[in-house]
Amino acid sequence: MPELPEVESIVTSLQPLIGKTICQVVTSNKTFRIRAIEKLESFITNKQINSIKRKSKYIIIDLNCNYYLILHLGMSGKILSGINLKRNLHDHLIIFFTDGNELIFNDPRRFGLYTLIHKNKLSSHPLFRHLGVEPLTHKFSYSYLTKILSRKSSQIKTILMDATKIVGIGNIYASESLFRAKILPNRIASSISPAEIKKLCHSIKEVLNEAIAAGGSTLKDYVISTGETGLFQNNFRVYGRKGKECYVCRSMIHHQKIAGRSTFYCTQCQI
Ligand SMILES: [Zn+2]
Repeated sequence: MPELPEVESIVTSLQPLIGKTICQVVTSNKTFRIRAIEKLESFITNKQINSIKRKSKYIIIDLNCNYYLILHLGMSGKILSGINLKRNLHDHLIIFFTDGNELIFNDPRRFGLYTLIHKNKLSSHPLFRHLGVEPLTHKFSYSYLTKILSRKSSQIKTILMDATKIVGIGNIYASESLFRAKILPNRIASSISPAEIKKLCHSIKEVLNEAIAAGGSTLKDYVISTGETGLFQNNFRVYGRKGKECYVCRSMIHHQKIAGRSTFYCTQCQI
């Protein structure tokens, strides 16, 4: 499932579409977890793209009208852009631009979504109103992390992946940042010391920034909109390395399910 760095990389790859005008829209009319607005086509045809940004794991396309076009990749979604793109099964939204460019949202499992949200209603919309802090902003700090961990009896990894507290961190980047901070993923949140919180705050930002610089991580079929793959999977220190040697201490990387999700860690390096 794409996490913050993958969505950020897709958003970067879509920037060439800014300023382009939509001339035709085709939808599959298939059902998603959120119903796309009725007659979406008529709302966005002839509109121009002002900007394309990321909020949590949503892609927000700002059009020169009262609406944002919102895309979410879910588990298996893909966004492609370019000229003369090949049509595929599971293309659910195809946007044609006046200069010949196209944008395609493809999602075989339909856990993603596309919809329009009125600009005045974005922050109060059910998809957005409960979202926590963006980890790469100043709001995500030592004091914020201290606040969300103090007196909490949940395991640290579960809190890092809770989008109502911090957005965009999933299984991969939670495991990787806890390894860098030398904290075991099953530690009870309230047991994390101030020095460890400081290290963790730094590790989260560091690992996300490195992953963005590498274009995200390609585990299955993740690609940016030009079809290129991300490379950060080559830099994983623990994720997916069950039974392999730890790069730091040479002992074996362990694997355990925490809250139903695969978790990787080193019992020598992490305490
Ligand atoms: Zn180790």
